[in-house]
Amino acid sequence: MGIDTLTFDLDDTLWDNRPVMEHAEAGHYTWLDESLAERFPDLLSARGRYADHFPLARYQARRQVIARHYPARRSDFTWIRRHALLDSLTTYGLSGHDARHWSDGAIERLLVLRHQLTLFDGVESLLASLNRHYRLGAITNGNADLRRLSLDHHFGAIISAGEMRIPKPATEPFLVALERLGSAPATAMHIGDSWEDDVLPAHRLGMHVAWIDNSGTDNRPLPVGVTRLTHVTQLPELLAQLIRGGHTCR
Ligand SMILES: [Mg+2]
Repeated sequence: MGIDTLTFDLDDTLWDNRPVMEHAEAGHYTWLDESLAERFPDLLSARGRYADHFPLARYQARRQVIARHYPARRSDFTWIRRHALLDSLTTYGLSGHDARHWSDGAIERLLVLRHQLTLFDGVESLLASLNRHYRLGAITNGNADLRRLSLDHHFGAIISAGEMRIPKPATEPFLVALERLGSAPATAMHIGDSWEDDVLPAHRLGMHVAWIDNSGTDNRPLPVGVTRLTHVTQLPELLAQLIRGGHTCR
């Protein structure tokens, strides 16, 4: 049976996400601290700087507490951040209205920085080329927005599994993507870097899987139907091999 559909993970599959998030994490918090110092001079004189009361590490710890307290929202990272910021801004002394305004501002700043990323070499042309032969979907637990990256036109289905509160490794996001694309697991391949969140659930559904091993050194045994790649641009060669071996694209 041929492969007619490809679903992609995003973070660490189409770009290197770690430096992006480190920059966004520090950047939006510094922006918030500096904005508050400028906008609320009375609070600054009375209480000192916001980030001295709530250093970045405390913000991060607070997010972990909130995620444990609201297990149904643990995968909605933007909601958890907003909740943590609201808590600390009101404790710092802002009114409810101001706390909402400045937490929204900080989240927007985070999202702007979060989308200042560099695709792995060749990704844009890879997607354009694959889109001519396959139905493409995206399934992410993160908060990357393909519209902000001007990549959404490549994809017939975009599933933000974390914000939908059914994050991978649940199989539902894969099934929703395939349903929207009019495809079935047996004729689809998922491409992703996480063994737990990408490879295992897609394999369990009977999808083909291209596992992007970013370390390049993981030699664990692979189940039938799972292929290890070290870079997403190796995908066309894998698809060509499958076609030569009897799997044909649509
Ligand atoms: Mg990933």
